[in-house]
This record gives sequence, C-alpha cells and structure tokens, in this order.
Amino acid sequence: MDIKLPKGTKDIFLAEAEAFEQVESALINVAKMFSYASIRTPIFEHTELFTRSVGDSSDIVRKEMYTFTDKGDRSLSLRPEMTAGVIRSVVENKLDVTSDLPLKLYYVGPAFRYERPQLGRYRQFHQFGVENIGITSPFSVAETIALGVTAFTVMGFKKVTVNINSLGDQPTRDAYKQALKTYFQPHLASVCPDCQQRFETNPLRMLDCKVPSDQALGKKAPRISDFLSPASAAYYAQVKEGLKSLSIDIVESPQLVRGLDYYSDCVFEYHMLSDKGLDYGALGAGGQYNNLVSELGGQPLKSVGFAFGLERLIAVLSDSGRLENVKPFTDIYLISMMPETDMYTFKLAHNFRHTNFKTELNLEHKSMKASIKAAVKKEALYAVIIGDQEMKANQVTIKNLQTQEQQLVPVNEVVHLMQHLTNQAGHHHHDESEGEEAHHDEEKK
Ligand code: AMP
Repeated sequence: MDIKLPKGTKDIFLAEAEAFEQVESALINVAKMFSYASIRTPIFEHTELFTRSVGDSSDIVRKEMYTFTDKGDRSLSLRPEMTAGVIRSVVENKLDVTSDLPLKLYYVGPAFRYERPQLGRYRQFHQFGVENIGITSPFSVAETIALGVTAFTVMGFKKVTVNINSLGDQPTRDAYKQALKTYFQPHLASVCPDCQQRFETNPLRMLDCKVPSDQALGKKAPRISDFLSPASAAYYAQVKEGLKSLSIDIVESPQLVRGLDYYSDCVFEYHMLSDKGLDYGALGAGGQYNNLVSELGGQPLKSVGFAFGLERLIAVLSDSGRLENVKPFTDIYLISMMPETDMYTFKLAHNFRHTNFKTELNLEHKSMKASIKAAVKKEALYAVIIGDQEMKANQVTIKNLQTQEQQLVPVNEVVHLMQHLTNQAGHHHHDESEGEEAHHDEEKK
C-alpha cells in the first residue's frame, strides 16, 4: 500500500500505547488527588475562539492552526491547545456561576499544530492539563505548579526544574512593552521578519524568537522583573515562597514569556534532560490567565493552568529505560491441545476473565513445547493446559511458569485455586483497589 501516515503524525501501538495509558492514568490519578474533575471538549471549535484567546499575534494561530471551512461554510479549527475550549465550555455551561470556586478541571486528549516535525514536535500530539479557575490566593498558583511536580515524581522523574517568571499585571506589561520597543527600535532592520511583525503586535514575543541572532539580542533586553508593579511583585514573591516551602526546584527565568496571548502574572515551564542528555523542550508549561474567562463572556475569574505533552514525557521515560516494565503481563495462559477441547477451554477462559484474571486463550493446537514457549513469551504466570485426558477426567493441568511445577486439579476448583496461588505469590490482578490501598497506607504513615 502506498498510502502512508500524514507528516508529523505517528501511530501509537503495543508497548508505546501501553505507556500512554499508564502515563495518562498516573497523571489522572494525581489530578484526582488534588481534587480535580474531568472535562472533555470537542477537538474542533470555531476558529474565532482561538484567535480571540490564544491570540491572532501568536505563532500558534498565525502559522500553526489546522483551519477548514465545513459544509455549512463555518470556519472551524482543530484545537491547538485545550485551555480555550475548556474555558469556552465553562462559560457556555455557566460552570463559572454555578460551581463552588475554584473550579478545578483536568483533561487529556489530542491537539494539533502545523509545526515542522522534529525532536519532540508533532502535528498531532497529546496533552494532559489542568485548569484551576477562580483562584483567590497566590498559594493556589503554587499548588497548581506543585501538582505538575507531583505528577513527575509519581512517574519516577528526578531533577525536574520549574522555570518561572512573572509577566505582571496589565500596567506592568504596558510599561515593559514600551521599554522593549525602545530597546529593539535601533535593531529593527536586522531582526527576522517575524520579529519585525512582533514589534508591532506584541514585542514580548520577540523574546521567544528561535533565530539565534534575535535570541542573542533578546538576552540583553530589559527584564520584566524590573517593571513589575508592587502588587504583581508581591504576588509573585508569594508564589515563589509557596514553591520553596515544598522544596520545589525553581529557576527564575526573566526571558520566559510563553507564546500565548492570554497569560498574565506567573508563567512557568517544567524541564528535564533525558538520561541520554536529549532536550525534548519543555515537558509541560502553563501560567496564570486572569482575563480569559471574562473575555469569553464569563465571570472575571483569576485562573491558572498547565499542559504536559505526553509524547515528550514518554520519550524521556523511554530514553531512561523507565518504560521497560510497562509490558502487560498475563496471569493465565490457557492452552487447548486439540479441536475437541476448544469449547471446554473457551468457556474456562471466560470464567477466568469474569474473576478478574488477565487471560490469554491459545487455540493453535501446537505442540506442548511450542505452546509453553508462547506462554513464556507472553510473560504469563501460569499455563493452564487442557488435553482430552484432562477434559474427560474433568481436570486441568496447571503449570507455574516460574518454577515449572505442575499439578492436576479438578476443573471446578481451578478458579479458586488460581486466586489462592496468585495472592500467595503477591500478584494482584485487581489493579484499581491496589492503587487505592497503596495510597491509604501512605496516608497512615
Ligand atoms: P504549549 O501549549 O505550547 O504551552 O505546550 C504545552 C506542552 O505541550 C509543551 O510543553 C509540550 O510538552 C507539548 N507540546 C507543544 N507542542 C507540541 C508538539 N508540536 N508536539 C509535541 N508536544 C508538544
């Protein structure tokens, strides 16, 4: 077949798909610990939602959006990020009016940007993120940043740093933009065409430029920290104190401006190099947005949120060998030796699955040796073998694939016996209750 997947996309299957599910469920679990609830919004929205929120001066909207006209002549866009859709939904469903605040929501799903594919960059990628809507305290900002750090810890990442900066309030940004304009004005002829445009629409963006000569210029630009209004400076100081009280590693980054229009006050990024030293870029990023909810027609609610890129998280986990254990194991590998034993084995597999065992059913009728080899390859704990001898005697053969011990047991006792054996061996097949127990244990300590 000569049809290939579109540039910048990827298929996710087998071990990597398993890794996605595990990472997603770990992230969702942490969000729930911080008392967040789930929200799902459409993957396409009216284009105007993004031009008004993410901003029509942002690269994301100007260059990277998948925009199309539908059969009803509407301009729609695949979401380049999730915050806009979440806030649209909150306002449209009046959650900003009817909920106890802050309203805490998490999401996970695909987002789309027409970017040049490179390390850590795809055109369809996946984000997990949270929105903490209607906050009143700088500690809520610190708490939200800490949620992200906790998620990294749970996934086994070490040495995650949080790059942090404050964009201040509106008076801060107005004064700073003026100072940037004064600074960049004499260099305007030599900066890239994008920056020439940014100079007019949003000079803060010039600090975000990827062109090396522009970056060098940006490094010597005035710093926003010198322009923070007293209120913004005090607020920012409290956020940092909150983070320090949790021993979170912060790196003050006066150049960090983030490429979206809706940010104000605190912005941040999570960074870590993989063990192989590869920098996949920010693993996650976010900030405060104090005007977005009202700009989209809702209440004037200060808010903060962040998004993690799942592809980047998984790439870093995989480079450092932390995904080796994600392969799904099988509890019981059932082997039917001949066509006559298929129905019997088939029904037994159904029983095991109803009793919460991860069960594989082999109806290939290969030799015993080949069948056991297949069971071992699946990393099964036990093989349960059914030949015509066993079937006639209402028995099955159970083989422990670790010790090679084998026993014949009556078929009506096998489910019970397997429960006993797997408990004894410390293998749990009730994944959910396992997680909860672990959590309660920790709380008791
Ligand atoms: P942003 O909305 O640009 O702040 O991005 C939030 C996070 O999403 C980033 O930190 C990345 O982890 C991830 N991300 C953004 N763009 C891409 C992309 N093109 N491919 C993969 N991950 C991305």
